[in-house]
Amino acid sequence: MSILVYIEHSEGQVKKTSLEAVSFAKALADQTGEGDVVAVALGAIDNDALAHAGTAGADKVLHVSDDRLSAGVIQAHASAVAQAFQNIGAKTLVLAKSSLGDAVAARLAIKLNAGLVSNVVELPQTSGEYLVKRSIYTGKAFAETALTTENKILAVKKNAIDLKTDGGAASVEEFAVTIDESDFASKITATERATGEVLLPEADIVVSGGRGMKGPENWGMIEEMAKTLGAATGCSKPVSDIGWRPHHEHVGQTGVKVAPTLYIAIGISGAIQHLAGVNSSKCIVVINKDPEAPFFKAADYGIVGDAFDVVPKLTEALKAE
Ligand code: FAD
Repeated sequence: MSILVYIEHSEGQVKKTSLEAVSFAKALADQTGEGDVVAVALGAIDNDALAHAGTAGADKVLHVSDDRLSAGVIQAHASAVAQAFQNIGAKTLVLAKSSLGDAVAARLAIKLNAGLVSNVVELPQTSGEYLVKRSIYTGKAFAETALTTENKILAVKKNAIDLKTDGGAASVEEFAVTIDESDFASKITATERATGEVLLPEADIVVSGGRGMKGPENWGMIEEMAKTLGAATGCSKPVSDIGWRPHHEHVGQTGVKVAPTLYIAIGISGAIQHLAGVNSSKCIVVINKDPEAPFFKAADYGIVGDAFDVVPKLTEALKAE
């Protein structure tokens, strides 16, 4: 018996969140003796890029190279993953929590008659009752869910598990599936990158600005720092509401939820609704001229100072690194 991992890819690479899901599955397989970790990837991507999933713990990758699956057509993805699950006789499916992952997992739960837990933050307790810990209330609390079904689906929260990088290359096999035309009923005809070099929801580093930046004309320094770090740019809600920045950069409870390794907040007060979108970040750095700004309580590092002094100096120092 094997554990199946549904892996997503973007721009020719397996997404880091999916590699984390592979590492999670590997640790789970070691814990339960469930055997091999088999990943399934859909759509056009090089086999070499897929073999890289081995570094995170995958033994084998099943590749459904049908180009129609390159766009994330949810029903078709669910159908292909279900066939891979049944083909290898898996009882557990692991995937990364993402908007596509959640949509596919919900359909798979029905197809496979499986219990589904999303936002999983650590390996489940598997001896006796099968208990899964998940993050709830935008990271403010945890819940433990008992899974009683034979088939199980676990959607792993980003940054919840250390990425394993010491495995060898995985073997990659073409995997043929039968997908009904009706599963392609909804069509993604084009996808367009919003702005910037790095996509905000996927970014490993985010540089975000708030109302303390005073106006859109000052965003050059945010973009310069982001470019230096290879980061995406974000902003607080009022900044996008007033039109200083596009809405898709708005981070928080009502915007994009990010989980980067590093989140740099510049001139953002740290209201609870903003924190709800960033509290899965590994390291938070806050730059604010008000030492009483609430964001400092959530920060790993803080600089009390005027952004207009601090940011250019910090960027110069980063460039010199
Ligand atoms: P402010 O609160 O005005 O803070 C500006 C900060 O900049 C201050 O801390 C100030 O000290 C600092 N500053 C000023 N000048 C400088 C300088 N020169 N150098 C350094 N620092 C400086 N907000 C979100 O961001 N995301 C959400 O998803 C979101 N959802 C919401 C949902 C609801 C239902 C509601 C009611 C509100 C929501 N909000 C959200 C709004 C939220 O409550 C705050 O109003 C907002 O986050 C504040 O944005 P800000 O920190 O940029 O601005």
